[in-house]
Parts: sequence; C-alpha cells; structure tokens
Amino acid sequence: MGTFQIDFGHQKNGPVVGIDLGTTNSLVSHLDLTGPKIIPGEDGDRLVPSVVTYSADGTIYTGNPARRRLITEPERTVYSVKRLMGLGVGDVVDELKLFPFRIAPGSESVIQLRLGERTFTPPEISALVLRQLKKNAEAYLGEEVSQAVITVPAYFNDAQRQATKDAGRIAGLEVLRLVNEPTAAALAYGLDKRQNGTIAVYDFGGGTFDISILKLHDGIFEVLATNGDTHLGGDDIDNLLLRIAMQDIESEWKEDIGGNQEAVQLLRRGVIAAKERLSFVPAAIIDLEYRGKHYAREINRELFEKLIAPVVDRTLGPCRSCLADAGVTVEQIDEVVMVGGSTRIPMVRQAVEALFRAKPHTELNPDEVVALGAAVQAGILSGNVEDKLLLDVTPLSLGIETMGGLVSTLIFRNSTIPASATETFTTGVEGQRNVLIHVVQGEREMVKDCRSLARFDLKDIDPLPAGMARIEVRFLIDANGILNVIARDVRTGKEQSVDIKPSYGLTDEQVEAMILDSYEKAEEDFQERQVREARMGADTILAAVDKARNSEAYYELSGEERAGIESSVNELLLVYHSDDHSLIRGKIDQLNDVTRDLAENMMNTAVRGALKGTKI
Ligand code: ADP
Ligand code: MG
Repeated sequence: MGTFQIDFGHQKNGPVVGIDLGTTNSLVSHLDLTGPKIIPGEDGDRLVPSVVTYSADGTIYTGNPARRRLITEPERTVYSVKRLMGLGVGDVVDELKLFPFRIAPGSESVIQLRLGERTFTPPEISALVLRQLKKNAEAYLGEEVSQAVITVPAYFNDAQRQATKDAGRIAGLEVLRLVNEPTAAALAYGLDKRQNGTIAVYDFGGGTFDISILKLHDGIFEVLATNGDTHLGGDDIDNLLLRIAMQDIESEWKEDIGGNQEAVQLLRRGVIAAKERLSFVPAAIIDLEYRGKHYAREINRELFEKLIAPVVDRTLGPCRSCLADAGVTVEQIDEVVMVGGSTRIPMVRQAVEALFRAKPHTELNPDEVVALGAAVQAGILSGNVEDKLLLDVTPLSLGIETMGGLVSTLIFRNSTIPASATETFTTGVEGQRNVLIHVVQGEREMVKDCRSLARFDLKDIDPLPAGMARIEVRFLIDANGILNVIARDVRTGKEQSVDIKPSYGLTDEQVEAMILDSYEKAEEDFQERQVREARMGADTILAAVDKARNSEAYYELSGEERAGIESSVNELLLVYHSDDHSLIRGKIDQLNDVTRDLAENMMNTAVRGALKGTKI
C-alpha cells in the first residue's frame, strides 16, 4: 500500500526549470541526467539578487547590476519586493516604514511602486527578476524556456500565491506548480525516499526566518505547522556590524557618515563580505575606502558570536512554538534541514543542533537547496523522472453529510493544497430553520464509515419549502492544511464557519487503513449508496404526493386516475425496504408517470422544487 500517485503526464514543451524566487536572492535550476543543478548567469554568479532598477535613462537592471545601483540610484531601485506580493497597502503599513518604497497614490487595493516616472506592481517587479532567470536558463540550455516550478513560503496565502503565478505569467513563464519552500528543501535532500518521517526545515535567509515542520507519509509531504519572524535574518546581523563600524568611523574620521547613503551602502557591502568570511575563518576585516579615507577593523569569531547571540536566540522561540503547533516533540523529529545563507554561520548550526538534538543536513549549499528541490519537482513535471511523487496534498477526501447519511465530497483525496471548493445544497425538510453541517473525512460513501471532523449549525435560515433554500458550503484548505468550512444561506447571507485541522490525531496507519478500506468496500458502498438514494427519491415523491392529496387538483382527477396513484403509492411502499435499488426506482418511475398530470396541474413549485438539489 501507499501508492498515492497521480500521473502528471508528459509535457512536451521544452525544459521545465525550477525557480527559488527569494526575498534577497533568486535562483534558477534544472534537472540534468545526473541530478538537480543550479544554472549560473552569464557573469558566472549562481545567485541573482532580487533587486530591480528602473534607471533614469529608462533601462531596467536586475540582479547584481541593480544591486550596485542601490548606491547610485536608490530611489529607482527596489529590493525585498517579495514582502509585498499579493498584499494591499493596508497589509504592509509596517513594512513600508522599514523600506524606502514610494507608493503611488490611488494604490489602495493593488500596491503600485513608484520608480521615477513609472509605477510597477510587486508582481511586475518580480517578473523582471524572473525574466532575468528565464534568460539565464535559455542561454545556458540553448533553448526556449516557457515553463517553471516556483517555490513560495509555506505560509503564503492564496493571494500571495496568485501574485507569484501572475509574476510568472508576466515574465512569459507558465507556472506549472508552486511548491512550498520547505518541501522543496526536503526534496533536494531526497528525503521523500524515506517515505515516512517528521522533518524540521530551518530557513534563516537575508531578511526572514521560517521554521516548518513537515510530515512525510508514503512519500507525501504535509506541512504540519509553520512559524518564524518576517523581520529576522542576515540583515539584522549586518546592521549590528554596521553600527560598530559606523561608531568606529565617527571616532576615527570625526565624521558621521550616517546621512550619506552612498558611504553607508559601501560600508554595508564591506560588512557583509566580512560576515560571510567569518563563517569560514576565525577573523575577518571590515574595510571601507571612501573619498581617499581608509577604515579597517578586524572582527574575530568570538566577538562576532557575542554580538549575534541574541539574533540567533530569537530563532529558537518560533522553533519551539512550531513544534508545539505541530503536536510533535523534539524526539519525534527525524531529520533537520538547513536552508538560507545565514545557516552557514557555525553558531547557528550549533544552536539548531542543540535544540533538535540531531545533526542538521548541511551537505548542500543552504542558499541553493530550495532551488535544487524546485528542479527535482520540475524534472518530475517534465517527465524526466520515472518516479512519480506527490507534494503537499490532502491524504483523505473531505466532504459533508447529506440526506440519507450519505457523503457529498467537496475536496478529493490527493488534491494539491491550498485547495478550495464550493457547492450549493438545499434543505430536505419543509420550513427547515436550522441546517446541521457535518464535516467528514474519508473515502467511504456513507457517513457512518467516515471520520467525523466537526458539526455546526447554520441557524435561522429563511423557512422555505423543502428543496427551495440554497445553502452554499465552501471548503478551503490553506497551505498549512487547515480546513475552513463556511456555510451560507444564499438568501439571507447568514453564515457560520469553522476551522479544522483534518490531520489532527490521525496516524499514517489510520490514513492507510481508511484508503484500503474504501477499495475493499467500494462495491458494497456503491450498492448501499444506490439503495439509499433510491429510498430518498421515494421519500421525496411520497411526500409530494401526500401533499397533493389535500389539493384541489387531486379532486379534479378522475376516480380511475386517483386509484392508479393510490396503487402506485402502495407498490412503492412495498418495495421501499428492499435492497434492490432498481426495484425501488422502477416504482418511483411508475408513480412519477401516473402523477405527471397532477403535478403539472398543481403548478406547485414546491413539488417540482422538491425534486431538485442535494439535500443536507
Ligand atoms: P533569501 O532566502 O532571504 O533570499 P538567502 O538564503 O539567499 O536569502 O540568504 C541570504 C543571506 O545569507 C544574506 O544575509 C547573506 O549575507 C547571508 N549569507 C550568505 N553567505 C553567508 C555566509 N557564508 N555566512 C553568513 N551569512 C551568509
Ligand atoms: Mg530563501
């Protein structure tokens, strides 16, 4: 057991590349015959800084050339645009305080960044970075690239994911799939091969810290929980060193360079270079050459570690919270994966090892690991990999109980998440005021054979004849696997909702057993469903006929016609409890035939209405 597989089909549209569209740096990758590979740019650099300049002469620069223009054209240069993707101005007020982005007026719902005389939306800026990556890949592979897999943080919501897809489209890339960054990292290490286990992915990048706990069951990754800090990363370390250097310079040069953007940016580059060297050597020098003056200072590992200890420490709280949210203990973590350039710092590695009491994976370049995983997924989608595997999917189907104890499935097993589905139901009882929404999980047809997840009432709906009310039920599974169910009375707009964690308290063995069970019982279930549906059909028509008996139209029928109806009713009642659904349906059809004139005469919408819609 355990082959939850989808055939992705074989795409024949040239290569599919993997893309890590990072806050600080972006990378493009592909799967070649020996494995996933990063594709370097023409300058040989593997990391493309996620920076875009719209220069005064109208030229657009991306990557390293744009990063250099942070110094010369700061007000025409955008960085960290990932922080704004898919968000409205209202969502990013705090963000905007920290960044020198100028927001164009009238951009309440869609952020418009002003760069000189033009405005750009965040997806348009990201698209320029993607276009650069696409160009690099095309130059390297020698053919056109039009399809990609792009990674996104596990906590990205639907709008942020959509904005990322839009960026791809603007750049001329069809985004075949968005993959969660921690899942990609685990894939790069081939952890899917172990089939089952619990994995912590610690991602400490330039400006953000993310911790994710993944559960792997039969090669399927599920994000159990995520946590982190959207303003914690290598930048904070840079700022600490920068402050020291600026103080030094002030006392040596008797000059505060704080107000001088150009000098500060140059110094920042010196600081970053020293910090990165310090991961490999015991001491490094921060230096700055500026207008004929020279500053140099050696920082050793010991001082560095003292300085950054509070920053490293701030990553540990979210790790503990994440474990708690995922409902797993440190002992249950089988693998720890290190992601992000800042995990090269030895002290960070030690802290993570101490917390998880396991040696983290550091064999791959931590700033390339997400892109390498994207390449693996890209290879699968392009048909280059024989193994089929699934990522971030719902392991079991989700639905609600409908009349007769049957399950109506909204989201099917193996759907990629996030996923959503909406269906409209109706009431089964005359004048019904409350509707019970019973959320169930499983592969069986009958509610009694599924797992009950939640029950709630949608109260005070408009009392209407059976079959007339319209109850819209919406299921939404977010990227973390949380299921949000909303039931809404379409007429009154009244709604009620609930959040559920479908995987809560469910072991892999139980998931497997439930799926296996559904295969074994498929025929039996099918028969039972047929019978129940037939009986419900009988209920509906019997109730309608009952009602009609009190109407004028009934007495307008001839005695012969009335006798025909009565005997058909009796015949239906006789077979009602049989297990032969075709027998029941035969009698329903017969009763339908003999009451056709009656129903038409009555012009009773309720009778006809009662025949439509699945009833809750
Ligand atoms: P993001 O995912 O946010 O785009 P990355 O994973 O590329 O970011 O990480 C970028 C950060 O990693 C920067 O702050 C950079 O200075 C830092 N970094 C890269 N190499 C090293 C190193 N050798 N030692 C310490 N920090 C490093
Ligand atoms: Mg990253």
